[in-house]
Amino acid sequence: MQGSPVLLEQFCGALKGEAPPLAKIESIEESTLACVAEEGFVIGDSSSGNEVETLIPPDIAMCSDCRRELLDPKNRRFRYPFINCTNCGPRYTIVERLPYDRPFTSMHGFIMCPECEGEYHNPFDRRFHAQPNACPVCGPSITLLDASGTFCGVHDDVAAETALLLKMGRIVALKGVGGFHLAVDARNDEAVRLLRERKGREAKPFAVMMRDMSVVRRFCELSEGERDALTSAEAPIVLLKKRMIEGLSPAVAPGNDRIGVMLPYTPLHTLLFDESLEVLVMTSANFSEEPLVNENDEALLRLKGITDAYMMHNRPIYLKCDDSVTIHLSGKLRQIRRSRGYVPAPVLLCDDGPVVLATGGELKNTLALLKGNHALLSQHIGDMKNFEAYRHFQHVAIHLQHLFQATPELLVHDLHPGYMTTQWALTQGVPVLGVQHHHAHLASCLAENKEAGPAIGLLLDGTGYGTDGTIWGGEVLIGDATGAERFASFEPMPLPGGDAAVMQPWRAAVGYLFRSFSSMPDLPFMKERNIEPVLELLQKRVSVYETSSCGRLFDAVAALSGMQGEISYEGEAAIGLMLAAGGTTGSTAFRYAFHEVNGRWIIMVSPIVQDAVAAVQEGVSVGEISRRFHRALVNCFKDIIRKAAHATGITTVALSGGVFQNALLFETLVFELEEAGYRVLTHSLVPSNDGGISLGQAVIGRSYLAGQYRGCS
Ligand code: ZN
Ligand code: ZN
Ligand code: FE
Repeated sequence: MQGSPVLLEQFCGALKGEAPPLAKIESIEESTLACVAEEGFVIGDSSSGNEVETLIPPDIAMCSDCRRELLDPKNRRFRYPFINCTNCGPRYTIVERLPYDRPFTSMHGFIMCPECEGEYHNPFDRRFHAQPNACPVCGPSITLLDASGTFCGVHDDVAAETALLLKMGRIVALKGVGGFHLAVDARNDEAVRLLRERKGREAKPFAVMMRDMSVVRRFCELSEGERDALTSAEAPIVLLKKRMIEGLSPAVAPGNDRIGVMLPYTPLHTLLFDESLEVLVMTSANFSEEPLVNENDEALLRLKGITDAYMMHNRPIYLKCDDSVTIHLSGKLRQIRRSRGYVPAPVLLCDDGPVVLATGGELKNTLALLKGNHALLSQHIGDMKNFEAYRHFQHVAIHLQHLFQATPELLVHDLHPGYMTTQWALTQGVPVLGVQHHHAHLASCLAENKEAGPAIGLLLDGTGYGTDGTIWGGEVLIGDATGAERFASFEPMPLPGGDAAVMQPWRAAVGYLFRSFSSMPDLPFMKERNIEPVLELLQKRVSVYETSSCGRLFDAVAALSGMQGEISYEGEAAIGLMLAAGGTTGSTAFRYAFHEVNGRWIIMVSPIVQDAVAAVQEGVSVGEISRRFHRALVNCFKDIIRKAAHATGITTVALSGGVFQNALLFETLVFELEEAGYRVLTHSLVPSNDGGISLGQAVIGRSYLAGQYRGCS
């Protein structure tokens, strides 16, 4: 451009300040050129020899303009559940292939009426090139079916009729953007309990959708950052602190100080709420750990016996996508499940490189495709032990490559030979690399922070296959994407029954006690459990796995303190233990110790277990046990990081792993490490849990292709 300096400056300001809501400016480069005799405005040709970069936008919550029209009786789209525009509506979930044009979306079956067509082609209309543009005349519509799948809507206004069913306490399966939800009035305790019973979901909290911010403020504490997240175009679930839960069924989020809240993000959601319907349980329609149900026939088949009615529509969902789950901690929004609204927006990397596809882990699986300086992560796929989830994984793995027109030079998988994701990678006829789980965690944290490293990685989680064949999970790895050294790890503890112990923390407790004491102490929790067979396994060393897991240490301490001995979802005992602390780590700490073995530090956890047992026997409260336990962990992590910094001169610390979803541990540790002068890198763009490891695997894959990879030792 050319013109007076004032105008040029105004233009630059407007470019950033007045960009359309969905525009993402990755970078602006400026340079000064000589003036030429030209005038007017042209959009230049983008095919300058380089490959054209096409990005598929994520699914975006209804914008305020569309909301206004939706509720305006004079508008031709009044109460039309599929109203959308260039700034909002479904995207990723309806795209079958590129280019992103209507014929290649699941809207291809709907021929636009002349009025919609006019909007679509008018550059001054806010629906100019809105691919899913539709209206009541030409677009998709909703229908209501009863429990047997028979059409039962009698009014024109299906949304109003659905709302009526919900008010009567009925469970309704709602087809949305990325799949079906099961919805029920969250104030109706009987109905919520019935949903738990029918869905076979004992205690895992349900997410809720609240009518508007006034309702959110009534039930929850709310910071500015949390408000911004709730009202963002991504419209994720945000885990908010409960404030006043009177009026809500206690069965919504039992035993938790937080509740997952989202605002209505589609026109249909908006139409369901009114003065007498303010909060709906909105849970993915699936069987635990399966991907959600997306198509009408599948819903009728699989939700039979669970739902009282189906509210369906005839716009096909091409790709399943769950709601995203986030939490605001230490001043930033953190991803717990990165899906709808965020996917497939790229995570930006500092470097370009070859195309690499990483297959992720076994639980909370996601895939990551690197192309240029973009890391394109898939939506949350789920637990790979589940056949449906694995089928979904295969579909997404192929779809991602097609969608972004990228053929990987390398497939990266977890070191674990038994993972389905490993098996899949090995059969694709593409070169492969196996990467250690916690090394991937470290590299993921570095990558999303655009850091080359090296850093001191504190990697805390439940399970990851180690280079020595044991189960790792309480690790200090020092390194970067090219390699890492295991500087320290938790003292290995015996886990009787392996994976069975994950859902039965009392088994972990027996194993940890067995290793920590020469003769088994007597504790109250043992009266309720048949520990003899487990002790026999430990003595005979049959089906006993050695683990340095941090998650299992939490389980063991929770169980031996008399908390949940059996749980219904992974991490339940750890959450219970954290909540017992009441938001503070206290000043007294259990003992811990360090042993140096062959130049590597072992963080001894048996003193922690011994002290916890002594506290139980002295009648110390669970709350105080939890505070001393958390204080011990924070202190010992600070100590070991100091040793690492001393040994290497590195003062950057990277925190990763599912244990960092523990708000108390995370916030305390971040604060105290920063206070001690470290630069602390944390996750915010991708989950710290295993949903984030595909990113780390992929960038490690690039270091391998560059000939720099030296592994994890
Ligand atoms: Zn809109
Ligand atoms: Zn139309
Ligand atoms: Fe992990």
